[in-house]
Amino acid sequence: MSLSGKVNELFSSQLDEWDLARENYKQLENVRTRKVSFGPFGITVQFNPGRITSSAAKVDSRSIEARPCFLCGKNRPASQRGLKFEENWTVLVNPFPIFPRHLTIVSDSHTDQRILPGFGTMLALAAELDGFVIFYNGPQCGASAPDHIHFQAGNKGFLPVENDFESKTNCNLNSQKESLNVWLWNGYMRGIVTLEGSDREGLALSFEEFYSRFLLMQPDRPEPMLNILCSYKGGKWVIHIIPRKLHRPTQFFAEEGKKIILSPASVDMGGVVITPREEDFNKITASDISDIFRQVCYSDAELSHLITNII
Ligand SMILES: [Zn+2]
Repeated sequence: MSLSGKVNELFSSQLDEWDLARENYKQLENVRTRKVSFGPFGITVQFNPGRITSSAAKVDSRSIEARPCFLCGKNRPASQRGLKFEENWTVLVNPFPIFPRHLTIVSDSHTDQRILPGFGTMLALAAELDGFVIFYNGPQCGASAPDHIHFQAGNKGFLPVENDFESKTNCNLNSQKESLNVWLWNGYMRGIVTLEGSDREGLALSFEEFYSRFLLMQPDRPEPMLNILCSYKGGKWVIHIIPRKLHRPTQFFAEEGKKIILSPASVDMGGVVITPREEDFNKITASDISDIFRQVCYSDAELSHLITNII
């Protein structure tokens, strides 16, 4: 059976046998959302109280060292079952969903969250799970387990960026070589570079080139800060790279009243902004959202030199 088929079975059996997952996926059906328009594109705000642990997670190294790692096999709930993927990976149902189908794909070894050693796995996952968008949150860009390499996956048809890319809203072809296209988004509030192509090796080389240029801008980080959304359709991968300059915006740390608990990661970059607190869901405005993106992301002008002659 294909991995997609096995994932379908895993969902059925986990929702049958695992109370926490069943309850949380049921609650997701009642989750409140609203659309905020920015002219040619929109952002969805999702009020999702189940995500407070992740959004407010302490990810400084002292807090991380003090807690048992929740992605290590020995610490996972007894009811959580997994599927093997390749040599060293396990596919799990995420018990705190944002998507109607939300997976976490974890390495079987407790090693730091880094994209370079995992990039090939991300592409392989996208090709095998072509009903899903695979995403990566860097160790300082939303990963609540920065000490254990993992990806997440959410069903396609959920993130606005998918359609915006299909219709090329605010997205321009920057360069093209053989089967590889490089796109740069503009006027989209967050600077995004998109690699598109059917050549796995060519994509990996272009990503590595981008990574090494971006590393020069952030030499003191464990890796340059980024989120990635990757999907596969009709023989081609689409890889949205969202370079980051900040983990959390000023609103996250503001005094009550001005505070907005919003800790942006890949899903937010894809156009679904998660507010775990109801008061934030009710009060967040279009200008708060654009201000938050402006603080944590680069502008298209800042990114354009990173992709000059990249392929
Ligand atoms: Zn671990």
